[in-house]
Amino acid sequence: MLANGSEVETVLSIRDLAVTYGSGKSALTAVEHVNFDIHKGETFSLVGESGSGKSTIAKAVLGINPTSSGSINFEGTKINGKLPQKLRHSIDRKIQMIFQDPAASLNERATVDYIISEGLYNYHLFDSEEDRENKVRKMMEEVGLLPEQLYRYPHEFSGGQRQRIGIARALIMQPDLVVADEPISALDMSIRAQVLNLLKKFQQEAGITYLFIAHDLSVVRYISDRIAVIRRGRIVEVAETEELFTHPIHPYTQALLSAVPVPDPKLAQHKKLIVYDPKIHHYENDKPSLVEILPGHFVYCNKEEEAKYRSELAAVAN
Ligand code: ADP
Ligand code: MG
Repeated sequence: MLANGSEVETVLSIRDLAVTYGSGKSALTAVEHVNFDIHKGETFSLVGESGSGKSTIAKAVLGINPTSSGSINFEGTKINGKLPQKLRHSIDRKIQMIFQDPAASLNERATVDYIISEGLYNYHLFDSEEDRENKVRKMMEEVGLLPEQLYRYPHEFSGGQRQRIGIARALIMQPDLVVADEPISALDMSIRAQVLNLLKKFQQEAGITYLFIAHDLSVVRYISDRIAVIRRGRIVEVAETEELFTHPIHPYTQALLSAVPVPDPKLAQHKKLIVYDPKIHHYENDKPSLVEILPGHFVYCNKEEEAKYRSELAAVAN
């Protein structure tokens, strides 16, 4: 239930997901025991260091990577594993992707007009050539590109403009869910905010749901409704953004937050860097899982840690 009384609608639901690359001796389990839900119209961010498994989860959601166990439900339909071709095709329109590196993800030999139209062609989403052109021109305008740039090629654009083309290509499909895998990491600082604002604008206008991926907590604070922190293929904490920033519970999240730069130099002086030591956990017998410690606030812990976290929270509350 939301504060305004309306029910939360779940767009994506991931349960006990695991993805293993390779087999036999060279098998690598990249992610395991992944659990989270994404609600309609929200920005849900997945944050973790490079190699922690963020793109693996993104690719599993998009059906690019096969999953080893668990389930991915999208709007009530299980979408991992083998799907009937028609269903796969329809899901592939509803879930769109924005990539980290727009230079590598755009076809260099195609014009912007073609790149943005490709999905329209694949799904026959226009009535006439005129209709298609109108749709593409409108989308160009929405992402802040000019109509005269329609017949140019990707290499003629800056990184920020190329990301705008990538956003146009995804959003012209009117998706329900957009997976944005580090969409601003490759961009100059000065244009990152512009691209984030553009994504926000589409969300407000079209009610799009985002799975936003970043390796830096400070980037996601201002755009996320909820955040999941991932470490070495395990989700260690999930909470609403302000809750996570003000009351981080998992020691790894606390360490990450201690490294986030503080804009105020006076406050920065008093900031202590916390170093995370995974040896503090004793998971040999008492096994961990993702536990809802407070309503909507999940922490990866075992029974002993859960009791400790709960007593610490009770001490603060009293
Ligand atoms: P992130 O996006 O958080 O940087 P990835 O999901 O790309 O992390 O990678 C998670 C782990 O899986 C890393 O150890 C990476 O080396 C490994 N990995 C990713 N893709 C493949 C692949 N196609 N084959 C084998 N290992 C992979
Ligand atoms: Mg990645």
